[in-house]
Amino acid sequence: MNYTDRIKRLQRSLATHKLDSFLVTHPPNVRYLCGFTGSASALLISGRKATFFTDGRYITQAKEEIQGARVVIAQKPPLAAAAEWLAKKSPPTTVGIEGDHLTVAERARLVGLLPKGVRLKSSPPLVEQERLVKDSDEIELLRSAVLLGSSLFDVALKSIRPGVREIEVAAEMEYAARRAGADALSFETIIASGERSALPHGRASEAKIPASGFVVCDFGVILTGYCSDMTRTVYVGRPPDEARRLYEAVKSAQQAAVESVRPGVSVGEVDGAARKMLQREGLGRYFTHSTGHGVGLEIHESPRVAAGQKDVLGPGMVITIEPGAYIPGRWGVRIEDIVAVTETGCDVLTPTSKELITI
Ligand code: ZN
Ligand code: ZN
Repeated sequence: MNYTDRIKRLQRSLATHKLDSFLVTHPPNVRYLCGFTGSASALLISGRKATFFTDGRYITQAKEEIQGARVVIAQKPPLAAAAEWLAKKSPPTTVGIEGDHLTVAERARLVGLLPKGVRLKSSPPLVEQERLVKDSDEIELLRSAVLLGSSLFDVALKSIRPGVREIEVAAEMEYAARRAGADALSFETIIASGERSALPHGRASEAKIPASGFVVCDFGVILTGYCSDMTRTVYVGRPPDEARRLYEAVKSAQQAAVESVRPGVSVGEVDGAARKMLQREGLGRYFTHSTGHGVGLEIHESPRVAAGQKDVLGPGMVITIEPGAYIPGRWGVRIEDIVAVTETGCDVLTPTSKELITI
């Protein structure tokens, strides 16, 4: 990872936003800029310098991980240490803060610690804008996370049987994830069977998998900081024609959206490609969420792949494509892959087949 370049890019953008410095406190943003994977941290970026603050628990870790920034081990919380550092500067100065992340209480504490001449300015998500386009190192880390994530689907296939509780299936997958080296799970594993498959966010419950019906499996791991996210829906028992039709409609919608991904296309158009297919099958009103989201150091990043969204795709952006159709009280289907935008189209990182699997 070229942390120095990332910090330099942020430094160059300070003037555009009329900032003398920028205080980064959101842990994934700190990690992106200087490599620190711990939790207690603040990174102060000014025109020429980058200063990292943490506390005594992280002396060794900071020394090992931080690149491109000077490390200050403080006796107080990192935010207070950064404020003290700023107070020593000759004011007046304007400091950007991460308006999307700093809490009201933290902001009040900062104001209390800073002299009058220091002005805090809630800034747009400058680091997130940089994170939108992944470099080749990041794409490789995402690819590894996606591959590990997809291996859990094989574990799910072995565990899904009528009478087995959803939570047992999730437990097997999560155990396998940790054994395979995952840092953690990207989010709470979704195993939604029978009628529960119609819940777009049916977290694995005590419910037993019925003798027949769909099972939606949506899961992901974090590996070396990067998140995977995939969904496959299987059918337990013999699928009636109606179930096959629903599955095929979602599969075609997902495929249409994947095929629409290329530089210059807006995320609204990608959403439209999936939505149009489901509408054509009379399922438009059952597709109740957006088509996807950006993914990287966090499970949900920009852009939001949703109806009417104008953000334009470019090489290096990584998004999920996950349309679904949910008939309340009956059943539901969702299929999700992660794709990386290339110069000419996209690379589907998820290797798993999308043919209907019956158990
Ligand atoms: Zn998902
Ligand atoms: Zn997702």
